[in-house]
Amino acid sequence: MKRAIFPGSFDPITLGHYDIIKRGVTLFDEVIVAIGINADKKYMFSLEERKKFIEETFADEPKIKVVTYKGLTVDFCKEINVEFILRGLRNPADFEFEKAIAHTNRDLAPIETVFLLTSADTSYIASSIVRDVIRNNGDYTKLVPKSVRIK
Ligand code: ADP
Repeated sequence: MKRAIFPGSFDPITLGHYDIIKRGVTLFDEVIVAIGINADKKYMFSLEERKKFIEETFADEPKIKVVTYKGLTVDFCKEINVEFILRGLRNPADFEFEKAIAHTNRDLAPIETVFLLTSADTSYIASSIVRDVIRNNGDYTKLVPKSVRIK
């Protein structure tokens, strides 16, 4: 069984992430959306909220799981016996950043990173932009799955 982990902060999940996860499921038997816990980072949404948004989004998708993890992504992959890391690429900046991480990960463990190019209509979406729109009371609903709603 081919399984991939899709790691990130998902603060919050966007339609860009959604697109990569849905397409990832056509390549892998299981896609595990893994929310990395970084104690030094300030988040807009709590870990519980971020997890709930993703779980609700994929409630009808048995091939998609949501988990949280601490520490190195490759160590977590070994722990849960996953051979692939799935990542999305939006632009050259993403490429340079992802290239360094993927090479480092390959030095640390025999785990392949698989990249999917963003879809044209979601390529501009980033969680940081969504947070900015939310902070300034803009309409963020076009950028995120329906489960992401601020009370
Ligand atoms: P991080 O916390 O690692 O910066 P994110 O949680 O924002 O990352 O994103 C996790 C993954 O989703 C990364 O591989 C990132 O490139 C990808 N991603 C984010 N937004 C998009 C998008 N609009 N289209 C495609 N991939 C995306």
